Amino acid sequence: MSAEPILASLLPDTAQLGEHDVQLGGVSLKELAATYGTPLFVYDETTLRARCGEAAAVFDDGVAFASKSFLCGAMARLARDEGLCIDVATGGELDLVLRSGVDPSRIILHGNNKLPSELERALEVGVHRVVVDNFDEIERLRELVSAARPLQCLIRVTPGVEAHTHEFVRTGQEDTKFGFSLAAGEARRAIVALRGMSHVSLHGVHAHIGSQIFDTAGFDETMKVLVDFIADDDFDELCIGGGLGVAYVEGESTLSLTQWGHAVRAAALAAGLDPRVRITAEPGRAIVAQAGITLYTVGAVKPVTQRTYMAVDGGMSDNPRPVLYGSGYEAFDIAQPLARRPQDVRLVGRHCESGDILIDEAWLPTSTGVGSLIATPVTGAYGYSMASNYNRVARPAVIFVANGSARVVLRRESFDDLARLEV
Ligand SMILES: *Cc1c(COP(=O)(O)O)cnc(C)c1O
Repeated sequence: MSAEPILASLLPDTAQLGEHDVQLGGVSLKELAATYGTPLFVYDETTLRARCGEAAAVFDDGVAFASKSFLCGAMARLARDEGLCIDVATGGELDLVLRSGVDPSRIILHGNNKLPSELERALEVGVHRVVVDNFDEIERLRELVSAARPLQCLIRVTPGVEAHTHEFVRTGQEDTKFGFSLAAGEARRAIVALRGMSHVSLHGVHAHIGSQIFDTAGFDETMKVLVDFIADDDFDELCIGGGLGVAYVEGESTLSLTQWGHAVRAAALAAGLDPRVRITAEPGRAIVAQAGITLYTVGAVKPVTQRTYMAVDGGMSDNPRPVLYGSGYEAFDIAQPLARRPQDVRLVGRHCESGDILIDEAWLPTSTGVGSLIATPVTGAYGYSMASNYNRVARPAVIFVANGSARVVLRRESFDDLARLEV
C-alpha cells in the first residue's frame, strides 16, 4: 500500500476515474450513493459477464459458478445466461437458485454434511451432479436413490496437496473435513461402493484445494495426483474445483482465468490424462470479486496517540473477511479518485467490537473526512454472501450497473425485515 492514487486495475473493467467522481458501467457512484444510500454494494455487470465468458471459453463450457461467493437471483440468472452451471452447498442455496429459474440440470450440489432433505430435493429435481463427500452420505444416498431418482455424481477427494493460502481456506491437505482421502484408500473404497449401487452414475473425481491461490503449483500438483489416481478408471470428468486468487491490494498479482485454465489442462495432459476426459472447474471469487465494490460514508474521525481511526457506516457485518482471514483491502475517496492518498488511517466499522476493522492501514487523500464517500474495491466475493445482522444492522442494498443504468437486485434490509422472525 502506498500514498499513490488507487490503482485502476483493482476496479471493475468499466471504471472511469474522473477528477470528482467515478463511473461504473456508465453510472456515477456519487449518484448511486445519493439515490440508494450507503453502505452499498455496486456490481459492474460487464465485468461479471466477461469473467463468466472467459471461464466458459477456457474450460469448454465445463464451468460451475461457486454461488457461495455471491448469490442472488440476478447473479444466478447472469451466470446461467453466460453458460455456467451453478454450484450450491446447502438447501438454501439450492432453493434460491431453483427459484431464480435455473434449470436443475445446471446445478451441482456440494457439502460435507448434506442433510437428508437436501439430498432428497436434489434427486427429486434432478440436479446435474451431486459431489459425494463421505461414507455416511453414501449410506444416505442408498436409501434415497431409485430408478425414478437416479444419481449422477462425482466423488470429492483430498489430494494431499497443501495450497499456499490461509489456513482457514485450505482444503486439499489430508487433515481436513472435506472429501475422501486418496492416501488412506478411502477414495478407492468410495468408488467401489458407488459402483455397487443401482441407478448411480459415477462420472469422475473432484478436488478443491483451497481459495485465493495465486500460482499454478498447487493446481499442477493436484492434477498430477488425480490423473494418476484415475488412470485405470473409465471416468469422463475431472473437476479441479475453484480457488483461483484475485488481487485485493496494490502489489498483488494473480493468474487470469484463461491462464489458469490453460495451466490446468497442460498439467493434466502432461500427467497423461486421456484428452476425451472433460476438465471442469468451479471458480467463485475469480468471477465476482473484482466486479464489486462497496460504498461507505465516513461518520467519525478520531485521532489517538498511535494513529487515526476513521469510522464508516458499515463494517464487519458487510465485510467479515478482514476479521476472519486478516484480508487486506484498499480504499479511495470517490470524489477524488485520482488524488494521492497520504492520509494514513485505520478504517473501522460501526460495530461494538474493537476487532471491527475493515482496513488496518488505509491510505486516503488528505481532505477525506466526515461526510466523505469512500469505496473499498474488490468486495464482490464473500462480502454480501457472508454478511450478517450483527448489532441488528440491516444488510446493504446490492445494485447492478450496466450501459448507463442501475438496477436494484437486492433491496436494503429494513427494520421490519429484521423483526420478521419475532413470534
Ligand atoms: C468455495 C468453493 C469453490 C469456489 O472457491 P473460490 O475460491 O471462490 O474460487 C469451488 N468449489 C468448492 C467445492 C468450494 O467449496
